[in-house]
Amino acid sequence: LCILALESSCDETAAAVLKDGEMKSNIISTQIKEHQKFGGVYPELASRLHLQNVASVIFMALDKAGIKPEELTHVAVTAGPGLPGALQVGVIAAKTVAAYLGIPLIGVHHLAGHLYANEYAGDFHFPMIACLASGGNSEIILMKDHLDFEIVGQTLDDAIGEAFDKVAREIGLPYPGGVAIDKLCKAHPEVKPFKLPFPRVPGYNLSYSGLKSAIIRKVEQEKAQNGGKLSDERVIEYAKSVEVAFVNQFVRKAFKAAEDFHAKMVIIGGGVSANSYLRSEVLKHKDEYEVLIPPMWCTTDNASMIAKAADHIIDAGYGIKRYYPNIEVINNNIDPKG
Ligand code: ATP
Ligand code: MG
Ligand code: FE
Repeated sequence: LCILALESSCDETAAAVLKDGEMKSNIISTQIKEHQKFGGVYPELASRLHLQNVASVIFMALDKAGIKPEELTHVAVTAGPGLPGALQVGVIAAKTVAAYLGIPLIGVHHLAGHLYANEYAGDFHFPMIACLASGGNSEIILMKDHLDFEIVGQTLDDAIGEAFDKVAREIGLPYPGGVAIDKLCKAHPEVKPFKLPFPRVPGYNLSYSGLKSAIIRKVEQEKAQNGGKLSDERVIEYAKSVEVAFVNQFVRKAFKAAEDFHAKMVIIGGGVSANSYLRSEVLKHKDEYEVLIPPMWCTTDNASMIAKAADHIIDAGYGIKRYYPNIEVINNNIDPKG
């Protein structure tokens, strides 16, 4: 089995080669610098940059892996969710390679990819609670088997990563704000967070927009009283308080679900799983549950995580028991003569 995987759902153009379950290459061309000027991802620019870079990223992944195109057995690609124009670039490139080589193409759900990133750290043990914390999504998922995703809780408004990024922008930190907040908090372990309310949402659901708006309002008031500025000390205090409030909500709900569903294992995935406070908070539960966290290099968008998920889809004979809703899985066998 030799899979070429592509990922282009947001602002990373990525390609990876997975041979018999082993990662041979993992190339990421990130557009973060280009989007920084706009304070967030500018979708049209993202599409154009994917188009500019996708071919070189594919060639680099094959080259680094020492794999000839003829040795590939499958092509996998992120089918969604993501920015439509950005996704299309990866899908068209993947379809072209698969059609040219006459090999099957597998559409992978981006969030399934984020969760399967954990397999570079260890094996899954079911039943399991998977916490998906990323830029565009926040979900608590019950997995009773591979590729079996039951969303038991999710954000009712903003995603955790998006909320991190918006608060960060308000307190003057660069995009991607989650990264900047984490860095600042780690550099100032002595700073104490102030208390923020715990959102009241039913079950295992989450909410970030109320917290985010309350903080932004508070920051704006403070800035108005201080000639439009926030002192460095206050920036750190805000960063710390937001990190603690955002992460604690997720962790509390996730472990409530783990208890109620008698989970053996708890995993985290998505860009926010890079957050050091989140990582340490979930690891605190490792006496009660098996806890798996993805390697740092596999937390934000990349194609090796897509390849891992594809590996399981192939293993299952393309059979997907319960998939994330609203995403059409491609998995069509392409007949090069057809
Ligand atoms: P999705 O996966 O939902 O489609 P995405 O692909 O845009 O969204 P990811 O690449 O998975 O998002 O993650 C990016 C998000 O992760 C950004 O919001 C970023 O701020 C956040 N993030 C990255 N590193 C950290 C960190 N160390 N602490 C907190 N947040 C982080
Ligand atoms: Mg990104
Ligand atoms: Fe992502």
